[in-house]
Amino acid sequence: MAENMEGKVSNGEAHLDEPVANGLRHKKCSNETTVEKIKRLVMANLLVILTVAGVIIGVFIGLGVRHMELSRTQILYVGFPGELLIRLLKMIIIPLVVCSLVSGAASIDPKALGKLGGWAMIFFLVTTLIASAIGVIMAFIISPGSNTGSKPILSDDGKLPQAKEVVDSFLDLIRNIFPSNLVSAAFQSYATSYKFVTKNVSSGLPSITVEKVPFGTDQDGMNILGLVVFAIVFGVALRKLGEEGEILIKFFNSFNEATMVLVSWIMWYAPLGIMFLVAGKIVEMEDVGTLFASLGKYIACCIVGHAVHGLLVLPGIYFIITRKNPYTFLWGIFTALATGFGTSSSSATLPLMMKCVEENNGVSKHISRFILPIGATVNMDGAALFQCVAAVFIAQLNNIPLNFIQVFTILVTATASSVGAAGIPAGGVLTLAIILEAVGLPTSDISLILAVDWLVDRTCTILNVEGDAYGAGLLQWYVDRSDKPREGPELSEVKLEDGTPALPEHSPLIEEKESSSRGAGDETAAARGSEKESVM
Ligand code: ASP
Repeated sequence: MAENMEGKVSNGEAHLDEPVANGLRHKKCSNETTVEKIKRLVMANLLVILTVAGVIIGVFIGLGVRHMELSRTQILYVGFPGELLIRLLKMIIIPLVVCSLVSGAASIDPKALGKLGGWAMIFFLVTTLIASAIGVIMAFIISPGSNTGSKPILSDDGKLPQAKEVVDSFLDLIRNIFPSNLVSAAFQSYATSYKFVTKNVSSGLPSITVEKVPFGTDQDGMNILGLVVFAIVFGVALRKLGEEGEILIKFFNSFNEATMVLVSWIMWYAPLGIMFLVAGKIVEMEDVGTLFASLGKYIACCIVGHAVHGLLVLPGIYFIITRKNPYTFLWGIFTALATGFGTSSSSATLPLMMKCVEENNGVSKHISRFILPIGATVNMDGAALFQCVAAVFIAQLNNIPLNFIQVFTILVTATASSVGAAGIPAGGVLTLAIILEAVGLPTSDISLILAVDWLVDRTCTILNVEGDAYGAGLLQWYVDRSDKPREGPELSEVKLEDGTPALPEHSPLIEEKESSSRGAGDETAAARGSEKESVM
């Protein structure tokens, strides 16, 4: 693990004089010409620039191609490079999540693990509750569902999620934490369905009653929650084995590093993939005018809510706690946020997010690789926020006044159901039914939410992944701070098997630049994100 250098902490924000991957904190070179300076900035931010360019060009390609009245097959072809990006990211999720969590859990002292995990959970819970509250407040202020006259009628081409009893939804969540088969958890998860059984009741007059009986089905879709829990527990078990477990820990460590090399390759494909994802979506969109006319207020409510939480609340919390510039932190994860926007999937964004926080924001691997997979699975501020807006919106559409208890139920169930939401496109809409059932609102109106989810889901995913990244940044700050007063190596809580502090992180992705001005003790910090340079 990282060493403390002259009291400096290892969060990237602390190394203000040193170059980081996004070049924001480069020491000023007095004899650098303006051209050189621009060149350096462009090179340092190349990936971000390419990603932004990708989004913009994608919009133009989409608008241009849209008029060509393409057939469905041709639209599919337009989106093909984007589809490849999603496939690549999905391919990497399982090895990344499992290996990073096993090696993360195995490398952290169980006491520190519990402490870090506890703080992370508190942060995730509080921020999700705040997001839910913002959603409810926004929905009451903007009132997207009031005064609409009649309900908007939209063609419903999406499949509606089957309404589930609230208790069954929660039981499914718990069942998925304990997958019965690890192999099938990689592509299937458990979901309750219902069948109706008729029974002859012959007490007194013979009559027939129909009983709704729940039964379990395996649904397509990775059970990432089960894999996350298994990987953490397995990592802890490996650590407990002591020497015997070392080989396997090393195996998972190097598997993890190799996966991250793949991620850095995929990263350079992301701008192109995002460009075609955006273009494909614009071409595929049906009548956007009608959608905005009927659901514009709802969309605005969600997007403004996401912006308030993502640009003010989360950065505010980060600033209040760390006293560091939260927007520098945001800039460091820009590529990952753009990927969240392009893919609408937290899980697919996870690999790039790990690289961004480690290389640009100086979060140590032990923290990022432990906390980000958990965050991508359970922490969904964006989903909780839009679910609250959606619930109040549906109540307003149906002229159902909500009392305090119902609003409170919405807040709590939205927070809980966002945990159960999968980090996939439209993952949040699927669990929206839990909230509607809990407060007795019609689940059939989910079709309206589904109609505009392709847009709302994008800002929602940005917020989901942003919350995880800030969580990792805050944990890094917490670890740095709690070790600062002590003499000796930083993050002494995070120790290797034999009780010695972990060695500096050497990644095949990172080349250390020798700096003659650095002392021997500084080399560790150099490996930590300050003078990091991707070999890519
Ligand atoms: N698409 C979101 C995500 O992957 C989940 C959601 O629909 O809320 O984070």
